[in-house]
Amino acid sequence: MFIHTKSAMADYDTIVAGGGISGLLSALVLSRHGKKVLVLEKDDIVGGNCNSYMVDGFQVDTGPHAITHLREGPLRRLMDEYFTYMPFFVDYGHYYVRTDKGLTKIPSNIKDFVTFDVLPRKDRLLLSQALTKALTQMTFGMLDENHPVYDFLPKGLSLDTYDFVNAISYFLSGKSMKETSVSRVLYGSSFVRDSVSVDVFKDDEALPDTSYASVITDMLSKYQLRGHLSSLSRLATNKVAYAQAYPRGGLKSILNAVLYSMPDTVQIKTGSRVCKILTDGEKAIGAATDTDSYISDTVVYTGFAKSLPSLISLPSEYKQDLSRIDQTLSLTIWLGLKEKMKEFDYTGSEVWFRGGAYWAMPISNYDANIAPKGKQLVGFTFVIEEKKDIESEKKKALDLIMKAVPGIEKNIEMTHYQVTIPEKAAVTINGFFAGTRSPVKNLYLAGTDTDRRSMGVTRAAYSALELLKAMKEDKKL
Ligand SMILES: Cc1cc2nc3c(=O)[nH]c(=O)nc-3n(C[C@H](O)[C@H](O)[C@H](O)COP(=O)(O)OP(=O)(O)OC[C@H]3O[C@@H](n4cnc5c(N)ncnc54)[C@H](O)[C@@H]3O)c2cc1C
Repeated sequence: MFIHTKSAMADYDTIVAGGGISGLLSALVLSRHGKKVLVLEKDDIVGGNCNSYMVDGFQVDTGPHAITHLREGPLRRLMDEYFTYMPFFVDYGHYYVRTDKGLTKIPSNIKDFVTFDVLPRKDRLLLSQALTKALTQMTFGMLDENHPVYDFLPKGLSLDTYDFVNAISYFLSGKSMKETSVSRVLYGSSFVRDSVSVDVFKDDEALPDTSYASVITDMLSKYQLRGHLSSLSRLATNKVAYAQAYPRGGLKSILNAVLYSMPDTVQIKTGSRVCKILTDGEKAIGAATDTDSYISDTVVYTGFAKSLPSLISLPSEYKQDLSRIDQTLSLTIWLGLKEKMKEFDYTGSEVWFRGGAYWAMPISNYDANIAPKGKQLVGFTFVIEEKKDIESEKKKALDLIMKAVPGIEKNIEMTHYQVTIPEKAAVTINGFFAGTRSPVKNLYLAGTDTDRRSMGVTRAAYSALELLKAMKEDKKL
């Protein structure tokens, strides 16, 4: 092993272990604050779960993606402050639920529950009451973060409604309604923004004048909050949804914008797995791959926090915490269709929840260049259990798609499977998030297992901002 020591001087100000979107955003931010950065990525390409590639003429992403909180969230802040190249975003569209009757918009406010006839009328009423109660309690800090969705559901709901709530929980947290907290559903759905700013609770719309309004009003007066919360009706009157988008050119456009914005003071080495974080006494001083060692003032680790104990000696209590990080395994099936189908004539995504659940997005509807001329590309994502045989999970998933979209099998020209861990930590009730600082001096963490806010790329952006904040506080910047 060759060790660069440059007469005890650090080669770099910061080494970033991992070149996924979190690592690259961290490198960009630090370099723009004057740091010389080395990114070490184990794979032959950077991007991790944020990338796109070609399969038989179709450009697939690493899973169907909705990029959230774009109007004023963390990615917007990073783009405004640090990007010199901008991805172009296309308005996301809507969230639908597919049943054998076709597509119905998923309600994003309580008022819309009135017409959401996918669920029985009685269940809708019970659910809106429960939802109003949860929102009210949450706003005033009365809702325990660990309260499972399942426990909050009223008694007497139909099986169909349970399946629907379960599918939404899986979509928002990666886990079932028993492991997902109510606050996660409220934040993750459009009902509450998780980059919460006070204006979420501004009185800018009157309550809807429906029978549901009286239900809500009753609930609000019960909690003596009426004036304060008349904005419940505003919550995601789909204004919030407009802050979601898909990057034109595919997911790789976000990655490329970060890479093109990177100053020369960032060096990226692919095919370089960090197998050890180097220490001197109590502090981190660099990182080693199989072939090289690099010295730096600080190290930012963006691989699985769960795997950190294999790279550096850590206090046992911290290791115990890291072992509590929950993860979800997903299967995405990309179907390249010979011709466009009327069933997928929309932008946005759909959820199927009967006899199994999927989340699907026809991404070529945002940008025709993603599929060959006249053809269509749709991605379907399923949550799968690690213990189960992947091949039989694939077959089961494909069968469910055929059941949900009759006739699709005649139109399939390309089938491509991806088995991935979408986020390094699922937001479950007992799941742990590592945070930015580690117990080792000069060793920081970034990535989707360090910050529980939002999801995916947005969460990665939060983690880069938190890194910046922590390093500023620690006088490293
Ligand atoms: C099916 C699916 C659907 C998704 N849907 C959405 C969505 O709708 N919206 C959204 O915002 N996000 C979504 N995501 C999630 C989003 O893509 C990821 O959360 C994000 O890309 C993760 O970024 P990351 O950098 O934290 O992690 P990763 O992408 O996992 O990056 C970590 C990187 O570190 C590297 N690495 C790990 N260990 C080492 C080591 N020891 N040495 C060197 N390198 C190392 C890895 O190779 C990888 O490149 C989805 C993901 C999937 C799979």
